[in-house]
Amino acid sequence: MLLEIDDVSLLYGRIQALHGISLTVDEGEIVALIGANGAGKSTTMRAISGIRPVATGSIRFDGEDITKLRADLRVRRGLCQAPEGRGIFPGMTVLENLDMGAYTRRDRAGIAQDLDRVLGLFPRLAERRKQHGGTLSGGEQQMLAVGRALMSRPKLLLLDEPSMGLAPMLIQQIFDIIVEINQQGTTVLLVEQNAQQALARAHRAYVLETGRIVKSGTGAELLHDPAVKEAYLGVA
Ligand code: ATP
Repeated sequence: MLLEIDDVSLLYGRIQALHGISLTVDEGEIVALIGANGAGKSTTMRAISGIRPVATGSIRFDGEDITKLRADLRVRRGLCQAPEGRGIFPGMTVLENLDMGAYTRRDRAGIAQDLDRVLGLFPRLAERRKQHGGTLSGGEQQMLAVGRALMSRPKLLLLDEPSMGLAPMLIQQIFDIIVEINQQGTTVLLVEQNAQQALARAHRAYVLETGRIVKSGTGAELLHDPAVKEAYLGVA
């Protein structure tokens, strides 16, 4: 098991956002976390990446307990979250942004190889490599955020709403790229409002409701689950 979350609770002051969440991600999988607004999807990601401390429970990654490990040290171990809200560096060029993603690495040859790979995955970024991040379109910034995360060569890539705010055609594209990234060997845990697309691509998925996991299964099982269809896929 690459990631193992056991009975994790998390508080924001007096508000309890997670109530004993348990989930696992196996090497090679795409796992999706779906749920309504405020269900605790982003909070789960923050607990995993170490941005917020957990109140109880444990998180194991790649064979080690990382429950109390600092966020930057988790990145060094191969756990990388593409920034929420496209947090790229607007004053830096596309290439400089991608370089920043490799800041924990010293293997120059490997970095060059990954840069080629990222520019291959995102031809739009290749065309705009000298352009400042802040002048990219929303969709391009989203791609840059994913590309930058890949530059750390993560064992597990955490993606929080990669399709947020994108036009339908770009949503397809970003999901196709996620599948390609996975096929190239990166395990992916992704949070999505866009349940249809996420379930269609994920090997497995969990449904989160008010801070609790209420259901889990293969992507296909959940896609055809009547309750999931009604609540998250907009079909009765
Ligand atoms: P969305 O899809 O709307 O982003 P989500 O499933 O990602 O929703 P979270 O952002 O994880 O949900 O929020 C879970 C709960 O925790 C919500 O009730 C939210 O109001 C609360 N919450 C989130 N961040 C904070 C914070 N910094 N301080 C206090 N409460 C918070």
